[in-house]
Amino acid sequence: MNKEELKNIFQFLENSEYSLDQDIINNHCIDWRGDFIGTSDIILFPKSTSAISKIIKACEKNHIPIIPQGGNTGLVGGSVPRKDKGEIILNLKNMNNIRKINLTDNSVIIESGCILEDLKKKLQEHEMEFPLNMGSKGSCQVGGNIATNAGGVNYIKYGSIRQNILGLEVITTSGEIISNLSSIKKNNTGLDLKQIFIGSEGTLGIITAATFRIYKKPQERCILWLGSDCVSEILKTYSYFTKIFCDQISSFELMNKKSLEILKKIGIEFRITKEYYCLIELSNFQDIQNFQDYIMDKIANINLNLEDVILTKNEQENIKFWNIRESIPLAEKKENFVIKHDVSIPLERMEQFINETDQKLKKNFSAEIINFGHIGDNNLHYNVSVSKNIKPNEEKRVLKKVNDIVYSNTTKFGGSISAEHGIGQLRKDDLKKYKSRFELEKMKSIKKIFDPFDIFNPGKIF
Ligand SMILES: Cc1cc2nc3c(=O)[nH]c(=O)nc-3n(C[C@H](O)[C@H](O)[C@H](O)COP(=O)(O)OP(=O)(O)OC[C@H]3O[C@@H](n4cnc5c(N)ncnc54)[C@H](O)[C@@H]3O)c2cc1C
Repeated sequence: MNKEELKNIFQFLENSEYSLDQDIINNHCIDWRGDFIGTSDIILFPKSTSAISKIIKACEKNHIPIIPQGGNTGLVGGSVPRKDKGEIILNLKNMNNIRKINLTDNSVIIESGCILEDLKKKLQEHEMEFPLNMGSKGSCQVGGNIATNAGGVNYIKYGSIRQNILGLEVITTSGEIISNLSSIKKNNTGLDLKQIFIGSEGTLGIITAATFRIYKKPQERCILWLGSDCVSEILKTYSYFTKIFCDQISSFELMNKKSLEILKKIGIEFRITKEYYCLIELSNFQDIQNFQDYIMDKIANINLNLEDVILTKNEQENIKFWNIRESIPLAEKKENFVIKHDVSIPLERMEQFINETDQKLKKNFSAEIINFGHIGDNNLHYNVSVSKNIKPNEEKRVLKKVNDIVYSNTTKFGGSISAEHGIGQLRKDDLKKYKSRFELEKMKSIKKIFDPFDIFNPGKIF
């Protein structure tokens, strides 16, 4: 279909709701890591739920595949079209209104194209917060967060976005709108259909709005930065801290030495002496008078072999430490050939997983491990840098071998091959390998129900 035909099909849209300019379109055809580059002849920027409903009807009638796109920060190639498949991009950036902030029952109704950070800033005006937080918050949209069931750095206290969704507005096959944006918390009226759309990566329909739970903003936050030479000591710290600080822990992040050393390439340098560091964020909800003293008292007599202990004194210092943690994915982009993973492993088996997988990889390659992640949620970005001796024509073979080693150990230790980033294009083959055939068949059956013409993000997940 050429550009003129596409323009005719979508003639019900205002001029500002689409673009045929190839430079604009091309910017939206490449994913954040630059690993997936596709093509498209039109990009749509609809401003209303009714416009999206019409788009879906037109696409079904004309067999045009739609790629839903939020902030395009996804890390599995889910938000970009494939090459030469006649796919069009539906970007949600114009659906960005906050429809209602409800301070009686602590909820917000928000359109899916709202940038996560914009929502967070707006809620701060009311001393409230939406707890989802991650390095991409300045670009990702809440619709993308829902479609990927995003986890982020505060999962340990608030769960993933799924646990904070009270209602959804979704447009699915035939342009049908499923709208349930009520702020009620209890609703046992048969199957809870909204759960199917959370984490569906744009394969079942377009999410246009949501009702989220919101929370009182803590009075202050402090970060404890700790170093240790072995991961078992970090895990003991986790176990101990969850008992003494309970739900005051709002983040528990792990970084290995290599993940911090690569920060030099983007101008972040500091003293690194230990093999592992962790960043623990503690939140003061109970108006404790001197929160730093309170924390120091609690950890004064613990019998753990930790070093390089720093406790932040103010928000500026918190930002400095978060910047270290959140800059790791940016620094990784500068490395030549890093094979990335987003696994989750039961904590009691985490050390064994790391040791065995490190050993196996190092036996086969001259590999360096860039390990970091939301360890408090079992989530490890276990990334393998094999840049040194690999020729470009060997990359595919190495990638497969490395993935086989990492994922077979993930399965062996009772983990998941995708903790929070999803499947997209990147992990499609791995999903086939590590998910049971029965589960995959049932997933495909659900896809058929909501997308009988296969127009929603084809070639992703399945
Ligand atoms: C520096 C950095 C740090 C990150 N940290 C984290 C982290 O801590 N935790 C985490 O979970 N992820 C993290 N991510 C990954 C990414 O930011 C999340 O997956 C995020 O939720 C994607 O949102 P987005 O708006 O960019 O979605 P996109 O990338 O645009 O899309 C992601 C998927 O959702 C679909 N989609 C988007 N909008 C809609 C919609 N309205 N309706 C239906 N489908 C839709 C797309 O088709 C695609 O399949 C990080 C990424 C970066 C670059």
